[in-house]
Amino acid sequence: MSANKVVDEITKDQQKEQESLNLFLSTQTVIQKALNKLGYTTEMYELLKEPIRLLTVRIPVRMDDGSVKIFTGYRSQHNDAVGPTKGGVRFHPEVDEEEVKALSIWMSLKCGITDLPYGGGKGGIICDPRKMSFRELERLSRGYVRAISQIVGPTKDIPAPDVYTNSQIMAWMMDEYSRLREFDSPGFITGKPIVLGGSQGRETATARGVTICIEEAVKKKGIELKGARVVIQGFGNAGSFLAKFMHDAGAKVVAVSDVNGAVYDPNGLDIDYLLDRRDSFGSFSQLFKNTITNKELLELDCDILVPAAISNQITAENAANIKASIVVEAANGPTSLEATTILTERGVLLVPDILASAGGVTVSYFEWVQNNQGYYWSEEEVNEKLAKVMVGSFENIYQTAETHQVDMRLAAYMVGIKKVAEASRFRGWV
Ligand code: GLU
Repeated sequence: MSANKVVDEITKDQQKEQESLNLFLSTQTVIQKALNKLGYTTEMYELLKEPIRLLTVRIPVRMDDGSVKIFTGYRSQHNDAVGPTKGGVRFHPEVDEEEVKALSIWMSLKCGITDLPYGGGKGGIICDPRKMSFRELERLSRGYVRAISQIVGPTKDIPAPDVYTNSQIMAWMMDEYSRLREFDSPGFITGKPIVLGGSQGRETATARGVTICIEEAVKKKGIELKGARVVIQGFGNAGSFLAKFMHDAGAKVVAVSDVNGAVYDPNGLDIDYLLDRRDSFGSFSQLFKNTITNKELLELDCDILVPAAISNQITAENAANIKASIVVEAANGPTSLEATTILTERGVLLVPDILASAGGVTVSYFEWVQNNQGYYWSEEEVNEKLAKVMVGSFENIYQTAETHQVDMRLAAYMVGIKKVAEASRFRGWV
């Protein structure tokens, strides 16, 4: 091979890896593959490769020091053929348009996999909530709702919590929407505090969904959950409750991390201590002297690895060093496409994000149903219904992967996109 050709090949490889790290492009790649496998035309791909609606808003907020700061926010609606769109709103400095678009497509897939009567939506505001006061956050949340009010609503698009947003923020948003419309509208948003129409079990729903996926995955791998070594990256809503559930199930949680670093103990960590001492953003590593990095955490010797933090953590660079035999993605997009192939070829059972993290939106759906009927369920009832949905969804995707001889990610995309494609076809859109 000539020197030029070698350089060309390397550049192509880098380009491929770059593409697989770009969440939006890699989502489109897998959607195209899934639609091809299912036998749909390119017209269907043209419809589903982008959101049908994307609103960018600028939100002026009076800060506590009297100055005015202008924030940029987005709401993306992927496809509303199945029903109203649904998905969280994240507050994060790194929110960008492409990411919000990709995340809204993933919400369509999650709702398709769990068979909820929704299409996908997602919102985000570029801000750093860690550096804002309570009142500034309230003004920002209310300003966002005023800015997007025309395209959202209980039968149009229903927001929910996501990265760095919580039930208090949902409460402010619900209050603002109800004031604008001049009637009480609990079904406008999910993930609310219980007293305002929130559902029992919503706060722990994502972690419960991940737990059910782990329980199903260990059965497939013939591993005993009791005594299994679990590593969790991230200690936010999903990671922290998951650590607790794993601990309660008799697994050994040997490492967990926050944004600054990870703690590791091969004999198992004291999870109750961490839960008790973490701050409101899930940070605890400042309490420890001997920490390891997030990168080192991923490569620890363990049975089950759960990336529950941010995207692009397992890439072509470190996929060969992952020791876990089961990887369950509790975060959105933690594994690149290249890494998915490497892990699958190595026989690792990878449970993809759009399946593993679907517990949150499932209980959001239950919350919306309860709001609409004005009749509320017990926590046992919610958890029982959630378990039914998650076990069924896992089995469906596992069987699809076996039947079509594809990895679990592609199988999940196939199951998820099929419902959106069928609904679009019946409506006569394609
Ligand atoms: N933000 C969560 C997710 O990405 C929950 C969405 C919802 O409850 O609507 O799945």
